Amino acid sequence: MRGSLSEAQAAFRDEVRAFLEAELDPQVSEKVRRGAPVSRSEAALWAKKLDVRGWAAPSWPREYGGPGWSLIERHIFDEECRAAHAPVLSGMNYNMVGPAIIRYGNDAQKREHLEPTRTSERFWCQGYSEPQAGSDLATLRMQARRDGDDYIVSGQKTWTTGAEDADWIFCLVRTDADAKPQRGISFLLIDLKSPGVRRKPLYAFNGKMLWNEVFFDEVRVPVANRLGEENQGWTVAKSLLGDERLFVSRVAENKRCLGLVRQALEDVPRAHELVDKAHALDVRLRALEATSLRLLTEADAGGQVGAEPSMLKLLGSQLVQAMDVLLLEAAAHWSLPSDGEGYPGPRSTEYVASGAYHHRGYTIAGGTSEVQHNIIAQQVLGL
Ligand SMILES: Cc1cc2nc3c(=O)[nH]c(=O)nc-3n(C[C@H](O)[C@H](O)[C@H](O)COP(=O)(O)OP(=O)(O)OC[C@H]3O[C@@H](n4cnc5c(N)ncnc54)[C@H](O)[C@@H]3O)c2cc1C
Repeated sequence: MRGSLSEAQAAFRDEVRAFLEAELDPQVSEKVRRGAPVSRSEAALWAKKLDVRGWAAPSWPREYGGPGWSLIERHIFDEECRAAHAPVLSGMNYNMVGPAIIRYGNDAQKREHLEPTRTSERFWCQGYSEPQAGSDLATLRMQARRDGDDYIVSGQKTWTTGAEDADWIFCLVRTDADAKPQRGISFLLIDLKSPGVRRKPLYAFNGKMLWNEVFFDEVRVPVANRLGEENQGWTVAKSLLGDERLFVSRVAENKRCLGLVRQALEDVPRAHELVDKAHALDVRLRALEATSLRLLTEADAGGQVGAEPSMLKLLGSQLVQAMDVLLLEAAAHWSLPSDGEGYPGPRSTEYVASGAYHHRGYTIAGGTSEVQHNIIAQQVLGL
């Protein structure tokens, strides 16, 4: 975090730094730095090390094994982890389903899910989008009909990130076809090993297997796996965002990207000519950081945050993409795949093109840019 930290915040930052220095496997952080894939077991090992320290789930209350940090402390932690190129742990586990179970789960659900979710022994994926329901999510159709103590679930989810590796999926399903769209939806936790579940990979245009289609054919799901009341799933889903909306600015990620840009400007012959463009991005990043910190500070003091996070999401995702454009310009042909260790090009540019195309998805994931523009126009500008 730039600017002045209080003494306590600076001490906290130093504590996090020392932990990362001592515990982060250099081989794994080197993978993260280069943009190379990190395996499920590497991510889980990192989650376990964090959990021993009580830091695996920064947004969870102490009572459930979280650290009970303020939002600013979470921001500092995030920045330090990104700067050290630590693996980014699953947002599905820590920021979505975990907090939802804490808030809406009964004792049995908490006992069954919270610990393995916190330690990353159990991986979750998010089953919201359907082929005809994305921005307009309330039109989702996947049906769950009651049969004694079970629901029988049939339908399809799509764009399901990480389903290939996940153990469980949290799904929005339609339990009342006659109610108004948002009123007939329930929130189900479904074991992906259940008979009748089938996963089919979807490849992104950078060649990565990023998503899946998940098909449900008469899948039996115990009613006990419903989170919250029947037909109240929309309320559960909305609450998933909570404070997380304040972390959509990608400030820490952007700082990491700017570090990569600066590295490329040093590594790649003649790329230093682009240094003025890097300065211009740094100015944008400082403005984003100032706005983000203002909102985090207000929220820490108990203030209500309105629709402002839509601005953060929009500007943060656009900035990552602008960093990518510059990184790609700097890396130029050095970002093409090479035939081995003997190739004299800089290693820092190996995954630049793949990363740039991956980040195009930020325009869409978590609410598209057009939808953010609508929210800003209506709720921030009052148009
Ligand atoms: C990287 C990535 C990961 C994802 N991971 C998951 C996941 O794990 N689980 C999951 O459930 N989903 C996931 N999604 C899906 C994502 O939630 C949807 O893609 C998103 O909600 C948009 O829905 P859609 O693709 O159906 O596009 P649509 O909603 O059909 O939109 C198509 C176009 O119309 C525009 N548009 C739509 N409505 C309006 C409006 N009211 N005003 C102006 N323009 C509008 C959109 O901006 C877009 O340009 C992921 C998507 C991406 C890109």
